[in-house]
Amino acid sequence: MIVMKFGGTSVMDPAAIQRACSIVQGRLERKPVVVVSAMAKVTDQLLAMGRAAGGGDSKQALELSRALRERHQSTARQLLNPAAYGEFQCTLEQEFDTLDELLRGVAAVGELSPRTSDNVVSYGERLSSKICAAAFTAMGVNSAVVDARQVMITDGQHTRAVPQVEEIDARTQAIMGPMLASGCVPIVGGFIGATRDGVQTTIGRGGSDYSAALFGAALNAEVIEIWTDVDGMKTTDPNLCPEAHRIKVISFAEAAELAYFGAKVLHPATVLPAIRKNIPVRVLNSRNPGNEGTLIVARAPHSRSIVKAIAAKKGITIVDVSATHMLMAHGFLRQLFEVFDRYRVSVDVVATSEVSVSMTVDSTQALPQIAAELQKIADVHYTERNAIVCLVGENLRETSGVAAQVFSALGNINVRMISQGASEINITFVIDEAEVPEAIRRLHKHFFTSPDAAVFD
Ligand code: ADP
Ligand code: ASP
Ligand code: MG
Repeated sequence: MIVMKFGGTSVMDPAAIQRACSIVQGRLERKPVVVVSAMAKVTDQLLAMGRAAGGGDSKQALELSRALRERHQSTARQLLNPAAYGEFQCTLEQEFDTLDELLRGVAAVGELSPRTSDNVVSYGERLSSKICAAAFTAMGVNSAVVDARQVMITDGQHTRAVPQVEEIDARTQAIMGPMLASGCVPIVGGFIGATRDGVQTTIGRGGSDYSAALFGAALNAEVIEIWTDVDGMKTTDPNLCPEAHRIKVISFAEAAELAYFGAKVLHPATVLPAIRKNIPVRVLNSRNPGNEGTLIVARAPHSRSIVKAIAAKKGITIVDVSATHMLMAHGFLRQLFEVFDRYRVSVDVVATSEVSVSMTVDSTQALPQIAAELQKIADVHYTERNAIVCLVGENLRETSGVAAQVFSALGNINVRMISQGASEINITFVIDEAEVPEAIRRLHKHFFTSPDAAVFD
């Protein structure tokens, strides 16, 4: 069997859903499980609705909900014949009535808890999976919706719940196995799940890729296909650098580093289940299905260029901690990291000197509390709006002098921190967020416009 995951833009309107359906039709013999994201932008709109309601503005929340209801109705109407639409409309109305009820409740309380936020946001995938199943059936594909809450079992950390692999394996096999055996295509929403007690959860933004990989691992898939809106993973974000080339083959380790440091095309955790079962992942373009995309496997052939790809992650805060007397004292770093740990904030890049430690974090939520605690043992200040830029490639293991090339390519762009060696396959450095586009263009030009770059396409 195979898993086929369609992202938001690949199910964004009737034409996209029809394209997705015909791609699935071309692979029916391989027994696909289809995982879908919410239609493009819906997750953001649901979050906006939740925030409006949480702020007590039920009018705005309900207006946004109405617009979403109309978009889903119009999509379904264009995909289904009048009889099928008549039936489906009842389901849609029920879903939206329940959502509106929820929003009114949130507005009445005037507070949106993470638990309720997960409930609100789950409607995106709940609806898209139902619309796709109805549309696929109308187009002659024997398919049925699987409620993600029955299979994607997670812990209770709302908005970033952790999937419980053994339970997911067992339930996926029990529910989807017989469907596949009978020739039915299971269609399931990505990103959403539930605790063992059935409380709605979500596994983090962009998490549908991860859902797809978890289902793929549970069913020992031949391949996990991630269908998106670009021809695969590229040498850098094509929005920042249109000359970015498609990467033909990349290793799990390289893809994971890139995803973690900002290559939005893949959720960073996607490769974990794939590695566990050694299942190849292929990133493909639903608007250009003939293109072979990018294959992600355990071992990729070395590229001729030093670097395989460059990623950037904005919204990074540098936390500088200085403690003239304490720093080298035994146990100081442990004390420091314990504070971050207690607030569940992960530190990405670290640099130390005799009297100070600089660290980067990607969430400012808990920083005031963290700073207050650290202040007891050291001087603390933090600078927001930075970015981590990351160069990735297996060749970095054996190449020296890359940092020098990076500095020379960056020219007058100031590097605030740099780290190499933690992973042998990346170099990361921190710059001002505003300089990311220029930095990426300069680095891409330096590392990829040599004649050797031809190997990528
Ligand atoms: P989906 O909705 O299908 O999950 P995403 O928007 O999450 O799609 O991811 C696809 C987008 O990722 C692309 O449109 C592109 O703008 C962005 N992106 C960032 N870095 C890269 C990269 N290195 N290669 C390809 N796409 C990238
Ligand atoms: N719909 C979710 C999001 O926008 C999950 C996903 O698309 O992967 O984050
Ligand atoms: Mg995505």
